Amino acid sequence: MTVVDYYDIAADLTPRELEVWQAVREFVDEKVIPVAGGFWERAEMPMDLLKEYGQLNLVGDGLEGPGIPALSHTAAGLVTMELSRGDGSFATMLGVQAGLAMRSIAFLGSQEQKERWLPPMARLEVLGAFGLTEPDHGSDAVALATTARRDGDDYVLDGAKRWIGFGTVCDVCVVWARGEDGQVQGFLVERGTPGYEATVIEGKASLRAIHNAQITLDGVRVPAANRLPGAASFRDTGRVLSATRAGIAWGALGHATAAYETALAYSLERKQFGQPLASFQLVQDKLVQMLAEVTAMQLFCLRVGKLADSGRLTDTQASLAKVNATRKARTVTAMARDLLGGNGILLEHRVARHMADVEALHTYEGTESIQTLIVGRHLTGISSFT
Ligand code: FAD
Repeated sequence: MTVVDYYDIAADLTPRELEVWQAVREFVDEKVIPVAGGFWERAEMPMDLLKEYGQLNLVGDGLEGPGIPALSHTAAGLVTMELSRGDGSFATMLGVQAGLAMRSIAFLGSQEQKERWLPPMARLEVLGAFGLTEPDHGSDAVALATTARRDGDDYVLDGAKRWIGFGTVCDVCVVWARGEDGQVQGFLVERGTPGYEATVIEGKASLRAIHNAQITLDGVRVPAANRLPGAASFRDTGRVLSATRAGIAWGALGHATAAYETALAYSLERKQFGQPLASFQLVQDKLVQMLAEVTAMQLFCLRVGKLADSGRLTDTQASLAKVNATRKARTVTAMARDLLGGNGILLEHRVARHMADVEALHTYEGTESIQTLIVGRHLTGISSFT
């Protein structure tokens, strides 16, 4: 397969990882890239494409549980990288489904919950959402205000959530709420539960092809059996989040790869002053800078994948990977946009979409600043959050 791999990372992958990479790459090239710009422009979710993707049997983000395909963390990272190379919204859909919703159930659910939800979620027949962020609590989600009160055999949830991917279409939403013991707990809120109202947040300039919801929870009754038994405090929510963070680094790599590949091809084809752009020294310098960043991100991500596979990836290593990769992806996508001149702002040339989409990666699952503070606290022993 044609792929930017200047330092032969493929040589460090297992046959299964190479096979997974190839399968997703083909799906992305044939099915995602040709239509992604249109879905983005119309702010429409590619639901049929999602169903089709489910047939590849690759949904699960390296998790273990009933019905989940076996994937190493490295393979799961390659999947996220490739999907993001195609389209950030599509990759984010899978990030919400597998990285967040399925992971919450796989990590913190009861055996019954795992058996009920995970197999159809892995087939993408059942969609999940992850409702943590609130209108008044983003970076300080630890202070969330949604409440869960026990009433007979049910819990009653009251509050609001914001930015929740798939929040309007999901079959089950993992809602995080503060219990009567003051601790954050997780609940599986099923589609159609009275009191759960979700509306699409309009006017996004990033990841337009996944809908994010503003949700109100007004006396939402959830059977006690739908509480995640493993979620006893925000520390457990944090376990889910830090496990997905490395995936964002892989996603940022995918966006940067798309931007680099597009810029290289364009600069070889487009002529100015009678010569291809690629013949100018300044242009070559930019292409080499982009290649260096993409290659460094690949090596970083591959190491993160291997550390995760051997159970040694720490939370702060995952945070550092996210900070570094999203920062580099912002740089590389902006350089690509520059190299495409005026065409760089047209959706048909892809880089503007990738450039806009990495803005969301920069912010979601813990902003660049918050991840930096997490690593800074680890380095210095001093917390500077407040
Ligand atoms: P704020 O917390 O208000 O931060 C604003 C700015 O202040 C940022 O630059 C931040 O870094 C900075 N800041 C905050 N505190 C500090 C500090 N102590 N020191 C220095 N700087 C600070 N959430 C979900 O639960 N589920 C989802 O599916 C989901 N999907 C999302 C999809 C998209 C496209 C987006 C944009 C967000 C999504 N989120 C989701 C929410 C996301 O996780 C939050 O946006 C993120 O945590 C930041 O919160 P905030 O937007 O409220 O920003």
